[in-house]
Amino acid sequence: MTYVVTDACIRCKYMDCVEVCPVDCFYEGENMLVINPNECIDCGVCEPECPAEAILPDTENGLEKWLELNSKYSAEWPNITSKGAAPDDAEDHKGEEGKFEKYFSEKPGSGG
Ligand code: SF4
Ligand code: SF4
Repeated sequence: MTYVVTDACIRCKYMDCVEVCPVDCFYEGENMLVINPNECIDCGVCEPECPAEAILPDTENGLEKWLELNSKYSAEWPNITSKGAAPDDAEDHKGEEGKFEKYFSEKPGSGG
């Protein structure tokens, strides 16, 4: 198993998760992060750190789409290990429905 980041992260990017991951397996896109399922050691420490509740274990039902997305983009986006500045409007998009359809970007972030 692994943990995966879901669309609740899109446009939030608080990045509390990257600070606690012992194996630095988060990768940064333009407006969300993903976890590399091959590097994640399933320790679970990131899950409660995420204020957007965007991180879930892939043992939960219905997460196949997110597992695939985390796998694909963690191979393309840069690694991120330290917390950057969240977007100014992050709070406005917390809990918003349909964020993937509205905002997902395939572009990489800057990493760090
Ligand atoms: S803390 Fe949650 S919302 Fe923020 S970047 Fe990490 S996974 Fe995304
Ligand atoms: S479960 Fe552990 S290893 Fe996996 S992404 Fe979260 S903090 Fe990193």
